[in-house]
Amino acid sequence: TRFANRKIRTDFVEQLTLDAMAVYSSLQPPADDHAMRQALHERLQTLVASVAPNATLLQFGSSVSGLASKGADLDLTLMPTDPKHQNEALPIEEQAQLVELIAKVMEDSGQMAEVHARPKARVPIVALKDSITGLKCDICMCNQLAVLNSRLLRCYMQLDPRAKPLAFCVKHWAKRRSVNDPYHGSPSSYAWVLLVIHYLQTTSPPILPVLQDLFSHAVPYADAGLVRTPDGREFDCYFYDDVERLRAAMGALPANPASLGQLLIGFFRRYAREFDFVKSVTSIRTGAFLTKHAKNWDKKEAGFRGDRHLFCMEDPFELTHDLGRVMDLPAAAWLRTALKAQSRRK
Ligand code: ATP
Ligand code: MG
Repeated sequence: TRFANRKIRTDFVEQLTLDAMAVYSSLQPPADDHAMRQALHERLQTLVASVAPNATLLQFGSSVSGLASKGADLDLTLMPTDPKHQNEALPIEEQAQLVELIAKVMEDSGQMAEVHARPKARVPIVALKDSITGLKCDICMCNQLAVLNSRLLRCYMQLDPRAKPLAFCVKHWAKRRSVNDPYHGSPSSYAWVLLVIHYLQTTSPPILPVLQDLFSHAVPYADAGLVRTPDGREFDCYFYDDVERLRAAMGALPANPASLGQLLIGFFRRYAREFDFVKSVTSIRTGAFLTKHAKNWDKKEAGFRGDRHLFCMEDPFELTHDLGRVMDLPAAAWLRTALKAQSRRK
């Protein structure tokens, strides 16, 4: 019987790998998607130039990380064109004014179906829908951290062929289970991808390295990735980004042959049974588990939703930012139930 059970299990995992690859393929955008996004980006750039001549629109989010599914939105941020000014402060009032100006230009162009300016939001944005392509687009101001963290995600996704399918499947699962909506207390797509990367860094033997830990001779570590945000804070955003070289070097490490199906099972087992929600914090910056105590996230504070820190994920650059902080108690309980149910099903 033991042999028979093992056979059933092997067949099951093999089938799961095939099914997951089929889901991955079905989520891929059509062949002309990239060109369509570039064309929209260029049209928006031309429109924005009339009100912000010294600024350039940069893409971030899933268009950059390579994790865009069919119909995913286009995330853009307005940045000073001259890199020397990239870290210069743009006060929030000016961001709000720009948002209103850009929204007006977009509306007047007649090319956009829906234009909404949100100048008073924590992150001021213009949300719009392009009439020609039907693509939705959010334009925010000076979000350099998002540009850099999207590039960090892209590098991780290029390092192992299993990373992208796994991230697509987890994102897809989270959307289907309604646990992918920070506005309603569940992790964002970005947070789910950080969990996937962290799992691949901490599985044994590791499948992904820790890019923020690798020293590059080409770029001196000390000042390479220093970013100053408009509010005057500084962030160390250095990470090793020579993917080609790293892939060659990784060949010499002990290989982890896990299939996509095994990794999916392992990912859900991690968050259904193994992860210590009470004490631990995931951190792709270190490729390890940190403690809430060390991050000072174990104290109840009267802050945003009580700042409960119920499922802690450290942002790779903004280290005081817990991506799980959007969750309140019912949301965290619901999420853990969904994770456990998924893990039992396997
Ligand atoms: P989708 O394909 O579902 O739109 P996405 O990869 O674009 O997914 P989002 O969660 O929409 O992911 O986030 C877009 C980008 O915004 C992320 O790649 C990241 O750069 C940035 N971002 C989102 N949420 C946060 C956050 N809480 N902290 C820092 N950056 C964030
Ligand atoms: Mg997006």
